[in-house]
Amino acid sequence: MDFTELSNYLVEKSFPAYRLRQIQKNYFSGRYSSFLEMSDLPLGLRTELDQKFPLFSVAVKNILKGDSSQKAVLELSDGLKIETVLMDYEQWLTACVSTQVGCPLACTFCATGKMGLKRNLTASEIVDQIIFWNHQVYPKYVGRIVFMGMGEPFLNWDNLVNSLQILRNELKIGARKISISTAGVVPRIYDFANLDTEINLAISLHSADQITREEMMPIAKQYSLTDLAKALDYYTKKTNRQVFFEYLLAKDVNDSDYHLDQLIEFLRTNKLFYLNLIPLNPIKGGLTPSPRLDIFQKELVKNNIDFSVRHSIGQSINSACGQLIVNDQ
Ligand code: SF4
Repeated sequence: MDFTELSNYLVEKSFPAYRLRQIQKNYFSGRYSSFLEMSDLPLGLRTELDQKFPLFSVAVKNILKGDSSQKAVLELSDGLKIETVLMDYEQWLTACVSTQVGCPLACTFCATGKMGLKRNLTASEIVDQIIFWNHQVYPKYVGRIVFMGMGEPFLNWDNLVNSLQILRNELKIGARKISISTAGVVPRIYDFANLDTEINLAISLHSADQITREEMMPIAKQYSLTDLAKALDYYTKKTNRQVFFEYLLAKDVNDSDYHLDQLIEFLRTNKLFYLNLIPLNPIKGGLTPSPRLDIFQKELVKNNIDFSVRHSIGQSINSACGQLIVNDQ
């Protein structure tokens, strides 16, 4: 929502200053789907605002419900569409948000990468995904946010940083409840470290062998594992925070004994590195899940490596990691 334009309008029409704050509070509460519902505003103002300003920058096109997750297709003001996911972990609700329409990075295991990049999302379009879910589940609310939906967050830096500010200041979501996942845009890892925040950083690693990583993630040709490790060394020294590595296990791609040894060696280089092993979610024409998950787990335990196995939820509605795609743009 464009609060500058709204503020100018309220000043021009001589409304008292508190009206703006009142509208902002209503908007961020997730309770309202239109100005007309805001009964604490005078009826005339509600009607005027409803005619002049869209309350949200996204409109729902479709919602698919799975056992413990929901996926929504949202339409933007220019007709492009994105997907956003809500996961119910019982103790809390987690939203997985998109930062771009499509993605330019073309990782081989990811449906979004097959779309190419259409455009970056604005900060409002990022925040509105959370407000949308808050409205859907009201009076419950989203307690955690993961930037792991469509797009590479670090390639939409300014809007990402603005949206984080809004999420923290207006929606009061604690930094430690937010996680950002990057494919490894090295210069932005330094910028992120310099933000001095407690927001979690996750890295899509998927292989600790340079050549395999390049095959899975073309961006690795631009930013090598050595450069990535250097940037993460800077990050951990500056923040003293853990780095979470995502490793999707794909049959005959990154699941050999050699890959396992490389992974263990890489993780040993920094005591703040933490591994999340993720069984692969199948996508059409994509990679095959590896049958060697157990072997990886046993060896990691034997080598005293800190790790978890993260079973994605939402596969039945194609909302799990790497499965988000909108074809009819
Ligand atoms: S995994 Fe992430 S960075 Fe890679 S193509 Fe998919 S959305 Fe882009």
